[in-house]
Amino acid sequence: MSYRAVKGMNDILPDEVAQWHVLERAFREIAELHGYAEVRTPIVEGTELFVRSIGETTDVVEKEMYTFSRHDESLTLRPEGTAGAARAYVEHKQHAKEPVSRWYYLGPMFRAERPQRGRYRQFYQAGCEIFGDPGPACDAEMIDMLVGLFRKLGIADVSANLGCIGGPGTRERYRAALRDFLKPKLESLSEHARARVEANPLRILDSKDPRDRAACEGAPGVTDLLDDADRAHWDGLRRHLDRLGTPYVVDPRLVRGLDYYTRTLFELTSRSGELGAQNTLCGGGRYDHMIEELGGPNVPAIGFAMGLERILLALGQVAVEKRPRCFLAPLGESALGAALELARSLRDAGVAADLDARGGSLKSMLRRADALGARHCIVIGDAELARGVVQLKDLAQHQQEELALADVVARLSRREAGGGP
Ligand code: ATP
Ligand code: MG
Repeated sequence: MSYRAVKGMNDILPDEVAQWHVLERAFREIAELHGYAEVRTPIVEGTELFVRSIGETTDVVEKEMYTFSRHDESLTLRPEGTAGAARAYVEHKQHAKEPVSRWYYLGPMFRAERPQRGRYRQFYQAGCEIFGDPGPACDAEMIDMLVGLFRKLGIADVSANLGCIGGPGTRERYRAALRDFLKPKLESLSEHARARVEANPLRILDSKDPRDRAACEGAPGVTDLLDDADRAHWDGLRRHLDRLGTPYVVDPRLVRGLDYYTRTLFELTSRSGELGAQNTLCGGGRYDHMIEELGGPNVPAIGFAMGLERILLALGQVAVEKRPRCFLAPLGESALGAALELARSLRDAGVAADLDARGGSLKSMLRRADALGARHCIVIGDAELARGVVQLKDLAQHQQEELALADVVARLSRREAGGGP
């Protein structure tokens, strides 16, 4: 019996994690610069939360959730982060503490999809939510932040696609218009789409089935059906983006996969790197009614989530800065004890230190120091130890000097901090 990770769920080994750290750091930094603070919610929520907020006839709820029951409760591994954040916002009466809350999160999500490049069953999202600001200025600010983040990360060919789904009234009119448009084409739709023409025709616009895509060519766009308030929001959003000089493309048929969106919708795609077909890096939109739906007050909200695996695919190889480290090579029994002590003192002084405690020849230890990319190797032999000295090898400069054991920490903490010899 050999064990394997669950299909669609990936191990991320230490040499890959370094790239994740670069990305996560860039995200946290830009989010915090924009006033977002991190929220951490549970990975499991009551199933009903997702059904209610994401929508019963969405792909996520119909077929992608990992649901199980325990103690007579139906629980679901979170397929996205907004529902949990919104639940926490309501549960902790956040609206009473401050008029506007800006939250971000980062963590694993779970969807039972067919695994392929850029699409997994456990994947990571980073996202932001703004509660309490009706926009459209904060909508523009959010989109501008994302364009800036992707530019800073060096992802090429990014397109910010912008749509407007309107409020509930507009959505109803749009549903009706789409039904009228799709009904004569029932025959050419996929079975799945056919079943949705009545209940949720908007979803068909988001279908990846080529038959549905073809049938949707020339479908009416929602921007013609906006009411006055929706139109003012939509015009305001574009005006702010124009003022900021943020590039965007209007997509009047953008609907996105979750039911909760109102008014602003957006999606950032890229053609760069190894993305292939799964080229949507991030998606988001306004969800002005969700907080109320979940039993909270009438608080408008907007948010987005980005898929970290897809961003890493778009980036290709990320340059990771390696922290300088030193390697301790003890040669002998009493040298080993001294090396343990010296390694601890180095680490206490902030110098990263590796120690080879397995014994072995100097040659094999130097090879190991090299493989780890160590800048210095400290060779400690029993005879030298008796004199209170060690050999300090600078592996980059190919130099070696004898140094008093007592001076090693001061010397290396100065050097590794970039303070010269
Ligand atoms: P898609 O159309 O690609 O299925 P979606 O509309 O389901 O995306 P959202 O629910 O808006 O996506 O999630 C936001 C982002 O999370 C996506 O743009 C994508 O980068 C990422 N994402 C979504 N599902 C997956 C998945 N199964 N594997 C990896 N990343 C994903
Ligand atoms: Mg999806």
